[in-house]
Amino acid sequence: MDRKSIEMAASETWKIKSPSREFLNLPKDERDVIDEFLGECPVRLGAMAARLGIKVLISTLPRGTSGRIEQEGDQFVIRINRHEAKHRQRFTLAHEIAHYLLHRDKIVASGGWSENVLLRSGQPQNIEYEANRLASDLVIPSNLLANATTEIEGPITSETIKSFARRFGVSEAAMEIKFQMM
Ligand SMILES: [Zn+2]
Repeated sequence: MDRKSIEMAASETWKIKSPSREFLNLPKDERDVIDEFLGECPVRLGAMAARLGIKVLISTLPRGTSGRIEQEGDQFVIRINRHEAKHRQRFTLAHEIAHYLLHRDKIVASGGWSENVLLRSGQPQNIEYEANRLASDLVIPSNLLANATTEIEGPITSETIKSFARRFGVSEAAMEIKFQMM
């Protein structure tokens, strides 16, 4: 959407997308760990990964590879391409944490996954959709965003989207997805 149509759509009515079923269906012990980090903006994804026992390395990866996740010994390791923009690195990290939470048996079975710049690892598309939905809940927790929107008056505009994107450390596209225009 161009700026004008975003403002028009936004001047109608909107709401924040509910947490995904992937998020709501996580086992309670993992939800409890994750919830510790979802009250603070931007979400400290590196600390969340560490609490989950995942090692995160900012690495030089082949061109066209945004991230990689694999098991090394008894630990999961996520590598993030150091040459990509910060908000991209954050979303890639959230996507890999989501794969860890949802798909770690499959990751182990196939010897680790590398993700291209579209965050596709060669797995079936639904696997990537699941990871993206959960990743969105990790980088833009619905409650935090709901709190943030209480500060604004009037419609959500492209300026609002831009400022929220900065605050949460995500792309404007990721932020737009989180708002559901009615
Ligand atoms: Zn993926």
